Amino acid sequence: MRIASLGSGSKGNGTLIETDEVCLLLDLGFGIKETIRRLERLGRSPLDLSAILVTHEHADHINGVGQFSRKFKLPVYMTPGTYNPDKIGMVETLHKVNCHKNFSIGDIVIEPVPVPHDAKEPCQYIFCHNECRAGVLTDLGHVTAFVKERYRCCDLMLLECNYDQKMLAEGPYPRALKNRVGGKLGHLSNDQAAELAGHFDLDRLKYLIVSHVSEKNNRPDLALGSMKSILSHWSGNLLVSSQAEGFPWITL
Ligand SMILES: [Zn+2]
Ligand SMILES: [Zn+2]
Repeated sequence: MRIASLGSGSKGNGTLIETDEVCLLLDLGFGIKETIRRLERLGRSPLDLSAILVTHEHADHINGVGQFSRKFKLPVYMTPGTYNPDKIGMVETLHKVNCHKNFSIGDIVIEPVPVPHDAKEPCQYIFCHNECRAGVLTDLGHVTAFVKERYRCCDLMLLECNYDQKMLAEGPYPRALKNRVGGKLGHLSNDQAAELAGHFDLDRLKYLIVSHVSEKNNRPDLALGSMKSILSHWSGNLLVSSQAEGFPWITL
């Protein structure tokens, strides 16, 4: 299984998960031209894709989904609550995800995990192929017991480190938005993410990719610092997924 990112952050998200059989695009927050440019950077074209999956209906995750699905005849998987035709429009084929039930696309088994976030029916996903598990976990306001349990044993984790508490408190956001981001249905702080990472099976985890880092309320070095303080004995690869570049292909 191979994973790469088109970009990560509040201006747009997109992650590729592929095997020799299928290539899945998780979330699409970029327009068509920009998406094609970012796919090309990773050596892929829209014609290589098998399906689009969506985590929730916020603009940075769905901006390009409807248009892309229609233009390239791609089926779309999402929870019923996530599908808002006023926002996404028609899609090629809509597959409704039951967020309590695993499903397969080609040779990838997908485990949906419901998360607390201020969207209609948000769910994140774990992608399994043979013995490999790759977890994607962004856009959640706090860590539930269920989240902690589901994501414990992964070979690769994309984990949200949205904000540094001090930078959010002292930063430019209006009070209401600060409360939303830092609230129980907002985003994970560096410290919340690091605390969760401390519960991962670190003998198994090979890659931890810091994701959805706020450009206004965080800095990559602060997020990495929080992780390193918790994971001092871990010898895996700690990376950052950026808004501009995402990250290049990782093979598991
Ligand atoms: Zn987001
Ligand atoms: Zn969101």
